[in-house]
Amino acid sequence: MRGLFILALVPAVAVIARPQAADYLARPQAGTPILTRPVKAAALAAADPAPAPAPAPAPASAAPAAAAAPAVPLIPPMPRAWPPTDEVSPIEGDFLTDPLVTASLAYVESVVSPQYLNIPPSKYTSPCVAAYPAETAAQNCYWPANQCVRQNDTAAFQADIYECPVANTWGLTYDDGPTVNVVNGVNTNDSPSLRAKLDSMGVKATFFVVGANVVQHPEEVLAEFNGGHQIALHTYTHYPLTSLTNAQVVAELKYNEAAIYNATGVLPTALRPPCGDVDDRIRAIASALGYRIVIWTTTPVRDTGDADIVDQTPEAAAQVLTTVTSTWFQPQPGFITLEHDIDPFTSGIGLAVLDAVNKTANFPLTMQPVGTCMKLPFYKTIETFGSISAIKAASSSVDGMARARIADSTSSSAAGMSRRGIALFGVFVGALAYGFAL
Ligand SMILES: [Zn+2]
Repeated sequence: MRGLFILALVPAVAVIARPQAADYLARPQAGTPILTRPVKAAALAAADPAPAPAPAPAPASAAPAAAAAPAVPLIPPMPRAWPPTDEVSPIEGDFLTDPLVTASLAYVESVVSPQYLNIPPSKYTSPCVAAYPAETAAQNCYWPANQCVRQNDTAAFQADIYECPVANTWGLTYDDGPTVNVVNGVNTNDSPSLRAKLDSMGVKATFFVVGANVVQHPEEVLAEFNGGHQIALHTYTHYPLTSLTNAQVVAELKYNEAAIYNATGVLPTALRPPCGDVDDRIRAIASALGYRIVIWTTTPVRDTGDADIVDQTPEAAAQVLTTVTSTWFQPQPGFITLEHDIDPFTSGIGLAVLDAVNKTANFPLTMQPVGTCMKLPFYKTIETFGSISAIKAASSSVDGMARARIADSTSSSAAGMSRRGIALFGVFVGALAYGFAL
């Protein structure tokens, strides 16, 4: 049967030539260190500038009763080590047996219907390319096949987000960072320079960050968070999600989440699948773990295509800018864009687009993070997580983690615990505010 399946595979529709950041930036070889770096505390209560009331709890599936479901840890236990940061290898081996993964996998398997969990993985071909069975692509709403999106909530997952609902609203997003590129002591065409430009304009954006980059530049993610930008998941390795096993999919989300939590003290609510590689299996797993799928607008095209350009010349960048200013800078239905801060070329285009916005008189659009235009909270709280039992489970989880880290006897671990304590305090205050008995 497996052989028949492989024979039936067809090339995926979406072929996005995505450059590897490591090709362009000199970075430390992080290997698989245990992250013990202290970061500044961030209060969860002040973390979410989204104005809206919370949505319904993250949906489980058609599982019969919640009583038997193991509690999913609210606060991710820090992993024993970070997976490789080369963005080439999938997460494998011992990294899949880390409690960070196994607890959430058990939860997913208890609440997500086998109807979704048993959808066969696609076949990995290369970065951003997976071969998906043609006969099931439409049935499973595989996005690279004709940009299929789920437009309605189901029992297993919430609808995909791919446009902003209000006219003339621009959901501004950057994928694949953070990256840092210092030239003669100055940040140049990288995530910090893009952030500085946004801050100078008073514009907030959504950064879909890759865990492998977060563990190398946690200070930049913290700066983005502290600047009021929305931090969201873009997986740990940037592997096409449909090509992975259920355990690997959970691992991609949880290591990404843990890296963000370690850097900022918050837990995001949004996930953009790398290259839009998503089907109903991925939607159901992500939804069970509390994530909304965010794609981008494809009708009309609101992807600069910056990461697809192989010949990274000034002329190519100028052509992108011409297309953007001539087709985006006008009144229109709300939309969500795709840009990248993966390397100096793409970040440079992002900066040029923002410069063009600055130079446009009576600019007709309002630029916002996706969470703001959708009126959804940026980060998980009691409202998004849904149950007091989950918080209590998280609390014991943190206690266990705290003991383990005290045993490590590192001051930086203590700093991390302190931050988590603040975050949990915010959650408990939130619980009280909503009338839960603790
Ligand atoms: Zn990406």
